[in-house]
Amino acid sequence: MAYVISDECVACGTCQGECPTSSISEGDIYVIEPSSCIDCGACADVCPAGAISPGE
Ligand code: SF4
Repeated sequence: MAYVISDECVACGTCQGECPTSSISEGDIYVIEPSSCIDCGACADVCPAGAISPGE
C-alpha cells in the first residue's frame, strides 16, 4: 500500500529528500509513485502541511 499526497500539499519539496526509494516526484503538487513506495512513512513524518497519509 503506497502513501498518497493530498491537495493540501504546498509543493515545498520537504518530503522528496526523505524518500529512501526516490518515489516522490514534482508536479503541480508532489506525487508518490505507488509501484515503488515501500510504505515506510518517512515522507508523512516530515510534511509541514500534513498532506501525506497512508493510502486506502
Ligand atoms: Fe517514499 Fe516511504 Fe513516502 Fe513511500 S512512504 S513515498 S517509500 S518516503
